Amino acid sequence: MPEGPSILLMKEDLQKFAGKKVILAVGNAKFDRDLLVGKTLKEIRLYGKQTYLIFDEINVRIHLLMFGSYEIDGQMKPDSNLRLGLSFKNGKAFFYTCSVKLLPNDFLKSIDWEADVMSDIWNPEKAEAKLRSNPEMMVCDALMNQDIFSGVGNIIKNEVLFRIAVQPESLVGDLPPEKLNELISEARNYSFDFLKWKRENTLKRHWKAHHQKNCPQCGKPLISKITGKSKRRSFYCEADQKLY
Ligand SMILES: [Zn+2]
Repeated sequence: MPEGPSILLMKEDLQKFAGKKVILAVGNAKFDRDLLVGKTLKEIRLYGKQTYLIFDEINVRIHLLMFGSYEIDGQMKPDSNLRLGLSFKNGKAFFYTCSVKLLPNDFLKSIDWEADVMSDIWNPEKAEAKLRSNPEMMVCDALMNQDIFSGVGNIIKNEVLFRIAVQPESLVGDLPPEKLNELISEARNYSFDFLKWKRENTLKRHWKAHHQKNCPQCGKPLISKITGKSKRRSFYCEADQKLY
């Protein structure tokens, strides 16, 4: 599943359509696509793994889910996978095998934009308050919780926990205050490192724990285990990552 940084790259690719009018809308998304024709794309806004195409009265939310993808200008994938294709004067955007929803403006007001870890208005104090009100939550679940750390996915989770030397099944309420702060700050810092490495095409080379066999610090085999209520795979070092 694409994580926040990959969605930021998608936003950059879509940016050339901002201020442009939709000429044609195609695809098999289950809504009246003609509602979009003639509308101007005002803005592209992100919330974690979701992309919002903001028009005048209506908005389109795109979530790539597990297998979604997009293409700009040229359609290389079959129509059967095409959920939404938008034509503008200066090119085309195609969204495949993803969730596409039409949403009213009111819905946008219900979103806590400050929960997006890569946003300019990311609010770490608010994240801390949410964590403190969930002391029984495992840190692996906390990082994957999109209401707290919107945009964080499994790669970011595994790498952040390795970086801050915390075992994934540790409980939020048992973390010392400085570890809780590290968790919050590294969720954002690692996301920007992810973005930089993804741009350079060197992301995997920088993985220290995610899908790695041995710990880069002590050389012991890493544990690979499904953890937490989110039931996603964790990779961690039993020697270097402390269970709180
Ligand atoms: Zn180790």
